[in-house]
Amino acid sequence: MNIYADNAATTRMSRTAIDAMLPCMEEIFGNPSTLYRTGQRAKEVIEQAREDIAAVINASPKEITFTSGGSEADNQAIRSAAELGRKNGKMHIISTAFEHHAVLHTLKRLEEEGFDVTLLDVHESGVIKPEEVDAAIRDDTCLVTIMTANNEIGTIQPIREIGGVCRKRGVIFHTDAVQAVGHIPIDVEKDNIDMLSASGHKFHGPKGSGFLYARKGIRLTNLIEGGAQERGKRAGTENVPAIAGMAAALKEEAAAMEENRKKLTAMRDRLIKGLLEIPHSALNGDQTNRLPGNANFCFEGVEGESILLLLDEKGIQASSGSACTSGSLDPSHVLLAIGRVHDVAHGSLRLTLGEDITEEQVDYIIESVKDVIGYLRSFSPVWKELVAGQRQFIL
Ligand SMILES: *Cc1c(COP(=O)(O)O)cnc(C)c1O
Repeated sequence: MNIYADNAATTRMSRTAIDAMLPCMEEIFGNPSTLYRTGQRAKEVIEQAREDIAAVINASPKEITFTSGGSEADNQAIRSAAELGRKNGKMHIISTAFEHHAVLHTLKRLEEEGFDVTLLDVHESGVIKPEEVDAAIRDDTCLVTIMTANNEIGTIQPIREIGGVCRKRGVIFHTDAVQAVGHIPIDVEKDNIDMLSASGHKFHGPKGSGFLYARKGIRLTNLIEGGAQERGKRAGTENVPAIAGMAAALKEEAAAMEENRKKLTAMRDRLIKGLLEIPHSALNGDQTNRLPGNANFCFEGVEGESILLLLDEKGIQASSGSACTSGSLDPSHVLLAIGRVHDVAHGSLRLTLGEDITEEQVDYIIESVKDVIGYLRSFSPVWKELVAGQRQFIL
């Protein structure tokens, strides 16, 4: 068996995306800013991609700016709102403790520049309460930035309600929707979203592609100065193949979304049911209010890294948290934010399923994880102490 179960880290490119990219590397190689034929064709590819992407989230094409990925879009969205705030003497930003580091580290920088940042509690469920957003808004709040779905535990936030609160209070609302776009429905109008970040490689597009939606009237701040590409808001010759691949991938995912959601939700629930049979285990984040393919667990008395290595030997590729933090010994900031203590947060396992997963593969994952946990516990000193009653079980 070879099962890729780390789709929150990245996804395999779809055939459709690759097929859309190839001509942009062969005959349509021109610089989109030039006036002759190959350049103009490249320009057309970009504008068609902009239209296709805008249609998926119910935006207007002019409101889409192409970026190098989700991280850049997050940086640009937050910087832009902060600059507008600074001009108006509003230097307070609201976010949450379990955002992606692209958001958290940008906020840290802004704090160093004099901004005041409030991080809301994400509760044990991993779901934000809109009334707590309302209560945190002050006269000097210039931005609320809250992710649509968490990349580690998959919990989905009440974005429409949060956006409604922000609209009522006159505050810009940005959402990092990198894990959501292409997977769950998003409508920037109905969902009251002012700015949104997305990344191509999280929905079967190429790495190094992404976009920022910014509602008409919101002035973007440049992160990269130079030529007049992207209406002067993002300099540099456009990555035409990546833009074409991203748009093709998103169009395809959007068309198959309902079918994929139904299938993945059933697979995810089968996985959760099977793995919670392991004694002293727990699911991280709300059981149903989560992304269709996401299941994230803690197992007491074992180390996340060892689980991953043994699963890899069985042909299963998974994660202990986010790819950005694996390799460090610190437990995930997301698991700590939902109240998992250090000891337990270390024994975490994130499985994020792809649309091609089968029931047989899910059953193989369940059986393999059970084996691996049993094996690791059989020589874990911590597990021995737990069983002997010298240490209290937490889960
Ligand atoms: C992957 C991810 C990002 C970063 O996107 P890149 O395109 O890899 O820069 C940002 N936010 C979330 C929630 C993500 O999952």
